[in-house]
Amino acid sequence: MFIYDSLFARFASSISHYGYTRICNIGHYLNIDSAGNVMPCLFASLRFGNALNKPLEEIYMKMVEETSKLRDSENLKGRCKVCKYRYICGGCRVGAFELAGDWFAPDPLCNYNPCENGNNGIG
Ligand code: SF4
Repeated sequence: MFIYDSLFARFASSISHYGYTRICNIGHYLNIDSAGNVMPCLFASLRFGNALNKPLEEIYMKMVEETSKLRDSENLKGRCKVCKYRYICGGCRVGAFELAGDWFAPDPLCNYNPCENGNNGIG
């Protein structure tokens, strides 16, 4: 697959100022189905355009911008908001939306409870 230089530059910049990138980097990588639809995640029902009709770079830039809030751990809610792993994990945002109806809800498939045993989750 051909990779645009500017796309690679954007991906490289996704490595956060913390020096690492999150496990889930929704919207920073491309998922294209056999019909050309571009999705921010393989499991997302969201579509940002069709690569057969629009320049891929244009679709990608729009997707990066519109999903930026999902990659910001400060926007998380509940357990994920107080979890010490939120900057490297952050949970599955698509799972949160599909199962809890809120893009920023705690990941419903995670069994970790950061507040267990009196831990405030931040430590
Ligand atoms: S609570 Fe689970 S899903 Fe959420 S940030 Fe912590 S480890 Fe990740």
